[in-house]
Amino acid sequence: MAPQELRYDGQTVVVTGAGGGLGREYAIFFGSRGANVVVNDLGGSFKGEGGGSQAADKVVDEIRSAGGKAVANYDSVENGEAIIKTAIDSFGRIDVLINNAGILRDISFKNMKQQDWDLIYKVHVKGAYKCARAAWPYFRKQKYGRLISTASAAGLFGSFGQTNYSAAKLALVGFTETLAKEGLKYNILCNVIAPIAASRMTETVMPPDVLENLKPTWVVPVVAVLTHKSSTETGSIYDAGGGYVSKLRWERAKGALLKPDDSLTPGAIAARWKDVTNFAEPEHPQGPANAMELLEAAVELSPSPA
Ligand code: NAD
Repeated sequence: MAPQELRYDGQTVVVTGAGGGLGREYAIFFGSRGANVVVNDLGGSFKGEGGGSQAADKVVDEIRSAGGKAVANYDSVENGEAIIKTAIDSFGRIDVLINNAGILRDISFKNMKQQDWDLIYKVHVKGAYKCARAAWPYFRKQKYGRLISTASAAGLFGSFGQTNYSAAKLALVGFTETLAKEGLKYNILCNVIAPIAASRMTETVMPPDVLENLKPTWVVPVVAVLTHKSSTETGSIYDAGGGYVSKLRWERAKGALLKPDDSLTPGAIAARWKDVTNFAEPEHPQGPANAMELLEAAVELSPSPA
């Protein structure tokens, strides 16, 4: 099947935070390609205040009036089991989970209140965990599942005024990388996207001409490919936005191998600092350094200079 014709007939897709922004675009796309869609959104402000059923209902109406199948769910992602229950009660299955719901509580670290930290953690990390935890037994039983987590450049690289958000977003990377490993033998593929798009989250921090070139619909295609049954990709991170899509990976410097004995002093490390930070011959690790191999190689070494 040509990629432009990717379809999801008979599958159930849960999109969290689908009442607006990116989530709305995912929901409308899947609804137009044959999927049953659960449109989850509690309808609050971008700071996580207030709520209502309108946001989700509007998207459900849009999907239905275009001939698609969708139901609304108004629970917070912190109650992930209720969201997955809506999928099972309405459509009898769950195939794809897009963990997309999110809020911002931007503030400098000096001025951050406990609530700013806790709310961000609750929506992004606990919310993604609760939804994935509720979907997981279904994915395992049917030996099929596709999961997307939504990280952010703020988490990957840091971003002024966003310690809470950055911590939560990078937590989702570790979470999803591990789910990818645990899910592999059940054909549960789990990936992370770090999107950039015009939405109420970005409209106050980016100028209109930039936002014009960051339509949220342009993030949809990579998510569509990663969640399709033909995909084999898992455990990866993708940058997506403004028409640009790229895979990201870790890079490890060549490093220094020192004999693990009393000669391993701060001075010995300092003397090898060039090697510690030398990216001329990098590795792209999939896991921690192979400890046993390193240990054997280190034992062969003569004492390092003090
Ligand atoms: P958005 O505010 O338009 O959409 C987020 C949606 O999540 C809203 O409709 C909101 O009501 C919903 N939501 C919030 N808390 C919820 C909860 N507890 N339970 C259920 N729904 C909840 O923002 P967006 O830009 O579309 O963001 C979507 C995702 O992408 C978020 O996870 C965000 O952190 C991430 N992201 C966005 C950008 C960007 O450039 N827009 C960049 C990096 C990451």
